[in-house]
Amino acid sequence: MTNEAIRDLEAIKGVIEKGRHFLITTHVNPDGDGIGSEIALYHYLKSIGKKPSIVNCSSMPENFRYLTTNQEVQELNEDDSTAVFKDYDAAFVLDIGNYARLKEVGQLIEFHKVPTICIDHHPKEDDKFDHYFLDSGASATGELIYDLLTGLDAELTLTVANAIYSAIMADTGSFRFSNTTEKTHRIAAEMLKLGVNPESVWGYIYGDLPPERVSLQVEVLSKIQYDLDGKLAWVIVSKKMLERAGATSKNLEGFADYIRNIRGVKASVVILELGDDLTKLSFRSKGDFDSNLFAKQLGGGGHKYASGARVTRGYKEVVPEMLKAAKEIMSSTSKN
Ligand code: AMP
Repeated sequence: MTNEAIRDLEAIKGVIEKGRHFLITTHVNPDGDGIGSEIALYHYLKSIGKKPSIVNCSSMPENFRYLTTNQEVQELNEDDSTAVFKDYDAAFVLDIGNYARLKEVGQLIEFHKVPTICIDHHPKEDDKFDHYFLDSGASATGELIYDLLTGLDAELTLTVANAIYSAIMADTGSFRFSNTTEKTHRIAAEMLKLGVNPESVWGYIYGDLPPERVSLQVEVLSKIQYDLDGKLAWVIVSKKMLERAGATSKNLEGFADYIRNIRGVKASVVILELGDDLTKLSFRSKGDFDSNLFAKQLGGGGHKYASGARVTRGYKEVVPEMLKAAKEIMSSTSKN
């Protein structure tokens, strides 16, 4: 798949110049790239006298709270949403991939006809947005925020640098996934020059594991199942398992990546029971195996090596569908 890039810099510059009150948002269950990108853009807009608000459709991950000082990241509040949404001059939608992942925030944007700017490193799915700053070859949305801000001649403060560095660190698996490029490292080096401390950033994000996450990890790793001659490794995480560990679904971040590392495994899937009729799948892969195709077969999407899906069926129904999809992709993949 070739990379796609659309950079409406001049149009976005015009939107920023004309407007004042901007919504910044990202996908459901935001990750470090979404949060870091939001915070970097927020501080830039504030620094030029604008009024940005970060409003997401779900709560923020605890391990990225260090990027905030004043509850900059809000969860959508149904009561005051209509009053607020009609006042936005434009909405910056970050790291979204698929519009449906904006949930209620997306519906409010549409209802109030808020002009939209999409900043993303996922392949473009549709023409839903008014302007795009999108490059599917970028390692992270944080990298595109860097490009946008430098394109706008922004002064990069240490706060912005920390947010950009964290976003990129999160989406590149700490600069080791295949999306990591020379440019990624160049941006990281510039962030270090601005004062970012890589050890503390890593420590905040990954070096402060809640014990319940470790308990959950022990049980999850003991329940891995293998198929397709050991090329597929998958695991179910039931509500009961979360309860036993005292953990939440947020504690699962990184598990699918870890399972992909097992020798001989080409694709890993973590299947999370969200409800009787709701299942979340996290796909990871390597080599020729395309996770995006895999996720698409179950109604989701994402990147070649990391993708996801939310399916409105219970996990017991989803497992055979997942196995069938894996088998088909594996047999159509040449060098497996
Ligand atoms: P996750 O396994 O939740 O960490 O998701 C990995 C990647 O898959 C995300 O960064 C998104 O690019 C994508 N993704 C996750 N869930 C969905 C979904 N329901 N629909 C489309 N893409 C998704």
